[in-house]
Amino acid sequence: MDGLEVTDCTKCEELVESRSQIVNGAGPADADVLFVGEGPGANEDEQGEPFVGRSGSVLDDALADAGLERADIRMTNCVRCRPPENRDPTKEELNNCRPYLAREVELVAPEVVVTLGKVPGEHLLERSVAVTKETGDVERVELGGEPRDVLLCLHPAATLYDASQKEAFRETIEKAATMAGVEGGQSRLGEY
Ligand code: URA
Repeated sequence: MDGLEVTDCTKCEELVESRSQIVNGAGPADADVLFVGEGPGANEDEQGEPFVGRSGSVLDDALADAGLERADIRMTNCVRCRPPENRDPTKEELNNCRPYLAREVELVAPEVVVTLGKVPGEHLLERSVAVTKETGDVERVELGGEPRDVLLCLHPAATLYDASQKEAFRETIEKAATMAGVEGGQSRLGEY
């Protein structure tokens, strides 16, 4: 790893085969909010950036409502290479990539780490997570050498499959903005 970038890695045989490129985190190196997804999908694998597909647009909309933009936040994934047929990363793959994530957390030193979906939630909290029930909950865990606030959040794609999850997703993103000290956007409009 060179700073925040993994430039070459061959730890996971299957992922080396399935990836077109390594997808590193994107966004300011000193961001106050670090979003952590599961792993790159087809769009991310093609463009070399996290959350650039449909899930990314859902996230962008929620960020905008919370008074945040991409330029304010950093996004990364638990694994940096696209798993074949978008399967979940295995435990071994997650663990192989973990030192890169830990180093990124250490260097960025965000106020809050937001896990997007069940896989990153369980990976960072090292326990099973019922993400629909626990979205919006904060737990302090040792990450990148220090205790950090981890905010559990639904995966943006969950709102595409089930519109009733939209509200909870947006509320959790607003909570991330508040934790990072950003005044909410849309949520405050009613006050004026
Ligand atoms: N889903 C993820 O978990 N990560 C991405 O980068 C894109 C979609």
